[in-house]
Amino acid sequence: MFRKRMWAFQDTLKPLQGHTTRILTRADEYCQAGEEFRQKGVSLAEELYSKEASRVMFSNNFIAEGIGDLAANMSSFTTALKQVHELVALLVDSVKSGLAAPLYTFNEGFRDLDDLADELDTRGREYESTLSKALDQRELPTDGPIHDKAARARWDFELFRFDVVRYMNQLDSKKVLLLETGINNTFYALLAFFQGGGSICGEMEKSMRRRQVVLDGMNKRHDRDNALWAYVRSRLEAELQGALPPPGAPPGARAPINPRAACPVYVAELTTEVLSAASQEASAVDMMHYKDEGVLKQGYLMKKHVFGWKDRCWYRLHASKLYTLELSRAAAGDVPVCVFDLSKGATVAKRPGKIPFCFLLVGDDGYRLELQAESEDEMLKWMAAMRRCQRIEDASPRGSTDLLGTADGRAGGGRKTIGLRAEALMDRFRKANPCCAECGSSRIEWASVNIGITLCEACATVHRALGSSVSTLRSLKLDPWSVFVLQSLVEDLGNERARCVWEFNVSPGWTKPTPDSGAQHREQWIIAKYRWYGFVGNDTRDAPLVSKAMIHAAARGDVERVVWCIAHKGEVNWSDPDEKSGRTPLHAACEADRRRAVAILLLNGANMYAKNARGVSSQDLVNQDPYSDLARVLAEKERGDLW
Ligand SMILES: [Zn+2]
Repeated sequence: MFRKRMWAFQDTLKPLQGHTTRILTRADEYCQAGEEFRQKGVSLAEELYSKEASRVMFSNNFIAEGIGDLAANMSSFTTALKQVHELVALLVDSVKSGLAAPLYTFNEGFRDLDDLADELDTRGREYESTLSKALDQRELPTDGPIHDKAARARWDFELFRFDVVRYMNQLDSKKVLLLETGINNTFYALLAFFQGGGSICGEMEKSMRRRQVVLDGMNKRHDRDNALWAYVRSRLEAELQGALPPPGAPPGARAPINPRAACPVYVAELTTEVLSAASQEASAVDMMHYKDEGVLKQGYLMKKHVFGWKDRCWYRLHASKLYTLELSRAAAGDVPVCVFDLSKGATVAKRPGKIPFCFLLVGDDGYRLELQAESEDEMLKWMAAMRRCQRIEDASPRGSTDLLGTADGRAGGGRKTIGLRAEALMDRFRKANPCCAECGSSRIEWASVNIGITLCEACATVHRALGSSVSTLRSLKLDPWSVFVLQSLVEDLGNERARCVWEFNVSPGWTKPTPDSGAQHREQWIIAKYRWYGFVGNDTRDAPLVSKAMIHAAARGDVERVVWCIAHKGEVNWSDPDEKSGRTPLHAACEADRRRAVAILLLNGANMYAKNARGVSSQDLVNQDPYSDLARVLAEKERGDLW
């Protein structure tokens, strides 16, 4: 009876057993497919993003600032991709083991059940035979060996039967839990997968977002470049069109002759220049400084890196230093950065080897900079310019007298003697302003002549980026100096006077940079101070009122007031519409023979050719007496090399 029940129970579980076996097989297949997918994915990713591939694709390009080495980025991406694939494999494994483990245990249970049934049979038979032997006796024994044997067999059989029933019941109730447990395990595997993916993403996201910012900027540049190309093309087209016969003219009709061309128009030189936006921007930045600061040479050069990459940058040689332009977010434009100091015992040599137009700069500390020009001619010009600026450096007098430059940068040679008077004035100016007006560094190398302050190299770099209309720089050591400019600096300007005006009311939260401050702090301070007039005080006067005040101050010769007006957005070339004379501040100063005011105005961009209501310029005014100090000041300014 019991055995029948057991068989029936086993029969009800049979389909379930078959089903779990099928699931286990499927799980194995799933696992195998997952492993194949992983292997295939990893090998494809490696091929797609391999360093070799990226090298081939991008070896001719330069590394973009802020984006980093493309090959390195590629390989970090491949690594992340591999990690993702490993995670997938891990997920597949976990799903399999999570689902299979309970099913497997369950199936094992069936095998046990078969064994148990056999065992139960044996024990049952044992008990039955012992019992029948005992029943064969005439009287049922209450003790003796047969009694003991029967009692033992019954004990064995009944307890075992109880255990089997309990086991079957457990198995029966377990089948309900079976799939739920498996499915829950699968969810755990998914959870682990997503969490693993999340941590990989977290690592990647930061650098990804940083690169995106740079890429956006590059895209904008690209668009600007495109617009410029389109514009240049339309100009070129118009120029070429001009040489064609007008539309509707009979065949063979003569095209209009361009009067400027002395030859047939189709061989005349085209005037449309092909420029990229980058080179145009670079030269625009450069032209701002060219006039005032003896630039020896500038242009594009390739910088060679040890590992074969090349950077194409705009370089500028000035005052024995080689600068390149770097994009600065704070200055919202390109900022010149010194990359090599040629004055410190450096050597310039042609690089031996097969690569053409290469030359090598080696500093006395062993630092090497390898550059490549775009032609033999360009290379020779660069090398000559670099050697020339070294000679200038060597020729400059040492000791206390090297305060005054002997170099005429643009002529690239030729000693320029400056009188004793200028030397004495320069001495006074340096002694009165021994530290950088921005950061307090004692290593002053430059002066901003319109603001009237001394500057260290680092602060001068930021000033240069403001443009010469905001801050006009001259090298204290290497530029030639005008007595008039020096007089102005000593008598009316200087760090302390400039501080009283430009730092009259420093807003809370702003601190002056120190010699150790980073470039960003310097940039923020200097730009806030001069470009945004951030610290001159909360004066709400409007510009015409200030400009009007400047005209009167110039006429009075009140230099302090003129300087104040300039720092409060006064317009140096403004003329008062209410005044009949139509004079500018420079007219007013010249008429009243105020030399010091004239110098300050000229340093700050006053136009000596601007005419008043009678059509007379400031230059005309002073030239009535060509030997006067004022006439000499204006003549010197017109010549340009000392201002
Ligand atoms: Zn400084």
